[in-house]
Amino acid sequence: MFVDSHCHLGFPGLIEQYATIRADMRAADVGAALCICTTLEEFDQVHALALADENFWASAGVHPDSEGVREPSVADLLALAARPRVVALGETGLDYYRLNGRTVADMEWQRERFRVHIQAARLTGLPLVIHTRSASVDTLAILKEEGEDGSAGSVGGVFHCFTETAEVAKAALDLGFYISFSGILTFKNASDLREIAAWMPVDRMLIETDSPYLAPAPHRGKTNNPSLVPWVAKQIASLRQLSDSEVGAVTSANFDRLFKGVLN
Ligand SMILES: [Zn+2]
Ligand SMILES: [Zn+2]
Repeated sequence: MFVDSHCHLGFPGLIEQYATIRADMRAADVGAALCICTTLEEFDQVHALALADENFWASAGVHPDSEGVREPSVADLLALAARPRVVALGETGLDYYRLNGRTVADMEWQRERFRVHIQAARLTGLPLVIHTRSASVDTLAILKEEGEDGSAGSVGGVFHCFTETAEVAKAALDLGFYISFSGILTFKNASDLREIAAWMPVDRMLIETDSPYLAPAPHRGKTNNPSLVPWVAKQIASLRQLSDSEVGAVTSANFDRLFKGVLN
């Protein structure tokens, strides 16, 4: 069995295909998925997916790239975290990749939004779904400043769609976080990432699609969906001399441990 730890099933392009995707997931032995929230405005739609299907779960949070949307307070996130089938806060983090003419100093609003999510995570005990792009130094520093230092009081979470260096992977693991690989792991130019997947502990790995983006090879360039997550497992299997189903089993068990017993 495989679990997609990060998908945007409510996005245009996927939601219209819901029935087909759900059938394809069953056929591909993808037994569960975490539906990720990127704005407060979107939450009800993401949450409805989790309420309608016992194998879907939801997060609550506002993506660092979401601009012109309602800014979440800690109280907002606590209220959403208390809803049934919400098992994570995020996706949250920092993204300095598209500054659109601004400087890193101008992105204080992103850092503040990230701190709000970490504070809510610590108050609820829910793990964090971290998005970090071109911003790993600040991402790690803020996690530590807000008490996510790998100690017993940390809530932890996952660095999703991991594309950072081995040093960042080690730092994330030291903080107690999991690392999730997307279809990028199957891309020709991702040899550095495959090296990380080859050495890091398998009991801290998750797999995801981040669909509708980043379809894994041999589907690269198409619209992604959760039924394609076994292709990421297959890549890990070849790097670790495991079978696809062994990678499915271990990453599913990791998902269940991180999100506290959610699998049926
Ligand atoms: Zn992301
Ligand atoms: Zn995402």
